[in-house]
Amino acid sequence: MSSTDTCGCEGGSQQGETIVGISTAVGPGAVGIVRVSGPEAMSLAASTFRTPGDREILPDETFSLAYGRVVEPETGEVVDEALLAIMRGPRSYTREDVIELQCHGGAVAVRAVLGLMVRLGARIAEPGEFTRRAFLNGRIDLAQAESVAGIVAARSTAALRAAVRQLDGGLSESVQEARGKLVGLLASIEAAVDFADEDVEEVDDQALREGLRGAQAMLARLLETAFAGRVLEEGVRTAIVGRPNAGKSSLLNALVMRERAIVSAIPGTTRDTVEEQVEIGGIPIRLVDTAGLRVGGDQVEKMGVERSRRAMDQADLVLAVIDLESSWDEQDRMILRGCEKDRWIVVGSKSDLVDEPGRRLEELEAFVSEALSPDAGGKGTGFAETRICAVSALTGQGIDELRARVHEVISGEGKIHLEEAVLANERQRNLVEAATRSVSGAVSGLSQGKGEELVCEDVRSAVRALGEITGEELTPDLLDEIFSRFCLGK
Ligand code: GDP
Repeated sequence: MSSTDTCGCEGGSQQGETIVGISTAVGPGAVGIVRVSGPEAMSLAASTFRTPGDREILPDETFSLAYGRVVEPETGEVVDEALLAIMRGPRSYTREDVIELQCHGGAVAVRAVLGLMVRLGARIAEPGEFTRRAFLNGRIDLAQAESVAGIVAARSTAALRAAVRQLDGGLSESVQEARGKLVGLLASIEAAVDFADEDVEEVDDQALREGLRGAQAMLARLLETAFAGRVLEEGVRTAIVGRPNAGKSSLLNALVMRERAIVSAIPGTTRDTVEEQVEIGGIPIRLVDTAGLRVGGDQVEKMGVERSRRAMDQADLVLAVIDLESSWDEQDRMILRGCEKDRWIVVGSKSDLVDEPGRRLEELEAFVSEALSPDAGGKGTGFAETRICAVSALTGQGIDELRARVHEVISGEGKIHLEEAVLANERQRNLVEAATRSVSGAVSGLSQGKGEELVCEDVRSAVRALGEITGEELTPDLLDEIFSRFCLGK
């Protein structure tokens, strides 16, 4: 099933129409671009654009740029001075004839040009409609189309790099490879089912099982990139936890290098959670300063504590802040045990207030090990020395080292391969998960001796799910859902 023949109608796109949109952000700026795509693009250019010498646009002109004016064809009134770029289909963004008028920036000029195009018969493009046409016309697949939105929305250098790679087709290739394998297996089982009475060779269970395992491994590799994808999309969710007054807000400020959280000497003043995003080694890190974890307190504080527990539960990384200057107690132990999951770093704070920060850090290390020992109620998961560091939010000492530790913990565990194609959004991740479940269903169905029809059904679901990533398989609302998230003019 090709993408073009299913979705011309299902997706609601009327590809015979010529569409127009403002492709730059509307607001003060040097240049504003009005983009037109469709069968009438060239005639709209011919009727509204005048070069100084009144040069005619040649029929086979493409990838050209002309200086001139946009005029009302009937009155000859000049709307704006502009550059006209011509990109004839199929070698254009949408594969249709595309013209772009680079007008003066600001809302007025572009809106006037847009209005003129609409009066002359173009329709205002829906969000993402240009990219939707690029997909419908087979220039890019659905995963590549989504990457365009990813590039526009990228919030970090690494996210931008990943989206650009996806536009190149990196992700599509891996998905196609797994899907292709499953399609092959499906064909062999279906042939055996369809011609059961005839003399067609029976399916070799062993080969089938191996094939399915191979597909499983491919999907598992894809899923491994899901964490990286989510991190690039949303940032590494990092919760800063610790007793009231431990120095959490100050640490957040030091990492962000500006005042954002309320810093005060009264315990329990960070009553809500405060969020900031920083970039460490190109990876977006979303810092959440939680209220001090302390049992009891007034009602508002209790709510804050509840929120910080939630932030911790949802965190990819926890920074447990322990005041190097104060003595440590059961509350600190509780906090440490609470972080005993895979990614966390102990931050000894206020190092400027202790005489020998190095020795104090060693004491903290011993305290952490003791608190986490199974005898003391810990899970005994072990604690790497590299995950402890001393900082002073006041002098900035140790902050760079902490940033390096964060980078190590996030990328050093092989959890983030920034150089690979990644599952970039929740839709893609859910689909690969669904495909994985179906393939596992097929594998266990096979070993339980379930009928080939049932195994077939599982494999078919997996093929369908993977096809939805690249767009070979489309459901009626899928395109609307995807492209409505785009900005106008893209
Ligand atoms: P939170 O309740 O854990 O968010 O703690 P705050 O960040 O509000 O800090 C509590 C108190 O400790 C404030 O008076 C801060 O100025 C002080 N403080 C925090 N970090 C440092 C530090 O690195 N050095 C010094 N000297 N004081 C600090």
